Amino acid sequence: MPVRVKIDRSKCVVAHFCFFYASTVFIPGEGGKPVVAPEYAVNGVEEGVVPDELYEQVKEAERHCPSRAIRVYRE
Ligand code: SF4
Repeated sequence: MPVRVKIDRSKCVVAHFCFFYASTVFIPGEGGKPVVAPEYAVNGVEEGVVPDELYEQVKEAERHCPSRAIRVYRE
């Protein structure tokens, strides 16, 4: 089951937890704020689809993001 991830970069406070928990999915973009890595990105840099094997990693990033800028859900 694919997993959709969304980053609201306007909410991001650059706390960097997402890079720690899901470093293959979230990579630093302009201003140090995360973007979705090109291999997973859809509809621009703030949204992506990742394989189910990465669910726990991206979910951990969502849980630890202090500004709730990351959303993760199974489709
Ligand atoms: S964990 Fe949240 S606040 Fe921190 S860099 Fe990632 S999206 Fe931004």
